[in-house]
Amino acid sequence: MRDAPSALSRRSWQPAISVVVPAHDEAAGLPLFHQRLTGALNGIDNWEVVYIDDGSTDATLAAIESLRRIDDRVALVCLSRNFGKEVAITAGLDHAAGDAVVVIDADLQDPPEVIPELIAQWRAGFDMVYAKRRGRAGDSWLKRGTAHGFYRLMQRMGDLKLPEDTGDFRLMSRRVVDAVRQLREQHRFMKGLFAWVGYPTTYVTYDRQPRCAGVSKWSYWKLWNLALEGITSFTVMPLKLATYVGLGVALLSVIYAAQVIVKTLIIGNPVAGYPSLMTVVLFLGGIQLMFLGVIGEYLGRVFNETKQRPLYLVERYIPSAVKVSV
Ligand code: UDP
Ligand code: MG
Repeated sequence: MRDAPSALSRRSWQPAISVVVPAHDEAAGLPLFHQRLTGALNGIDNWEVVYIDDGSTDATLAAIESLRRIDDRVALVCLSRNFGKEVAITAGLDHAAGDAVVVIDADLQDPPEVIPELIAQWRAGFDMVYAKRRGRAGDSWLKRGTAHGFYRLMQRMGDLKLPEDTGDFRLMSRRVVDAVRQLREQHRFMKGLFAWVGYPTTYVTYDRQPRCAGVSKWSYWKLWNLALEGITSFTVMPLKLATYVGLGVALLSVIYAAQVIVKTLIIGNPVAGYPSLMTVVLFLGGIQLMFLGVIGEYLGRVFNETKQRPLYLVERYIPSAVKVSV
């Protein structure tokens, strides 16, 4: 592993469950989140929560610090700037010490009350327990439709089976976490990485809640880019597509050429065909540019990977401490 910190070796205690919470500008909702989390994990002995401050511009860091002051089970990883949710989760996995790790959003859209159900499935022997949304009631039909289309597309193009209606909210056993931590690619499509590692997997269903405070950081443009990330990270099908489209067009052009030759032999050549010529030239030009773009998408990613930069930089790290048992 290139840049994974050795957080685990410095541990003085071993929590059973680590809850990883990426937080970017979540100051308003954090205290409530922590309260709900603590309530939900009431029946569990040994747990820690790892908050990742992902370059927040509001008082998120201060909020986590004050939680740490009143609760030893809080660990704080402050990243040097905003690296995005995928990397924030990775930083959390790197600093989580538990035998099982739960990833959950800070905005209470993933209800912490589901965590005991995840843990129950893990205790029943599953390595990966993801939480599946029961429908997408809050989303527009456009978002639902595009999401569904994306999952279908991913399944057809790559051989990766992505669970539908599932976010990053899930529990992973230690061996799954260690497996995911070995995947240090810069372009991180977490759902894909989680699915890629495999291991016995199951799910529980839950109702996704509206955001408790703040705003979502997802726009359609970002979702489109996430979809691109997903496709280019896990399949080279678009590159292969160029071969087949090229082949198809070449075949069609042979047929068309035969038709032109026969026609010329039979009725001569009364120089015409400007419209068809323009159509063909523009069509082929368009296709060529499009596939140049596809190649560019892959090349850009190869470029980024070759730099081998660390995924994130940590500005401050406070591990959780032994919980004084009562
Ligand atoms: N988040 C993050 N870094 C970012 C953007 C988001 O750590 O750059 C966190 C955010 O604080 C929240 C979670 O990722 O805990 C999900 O973000 P958001 O609610 O904006 O996404 P959505 O729920 O709309 O998918
Ligand atoms: Mg959210």
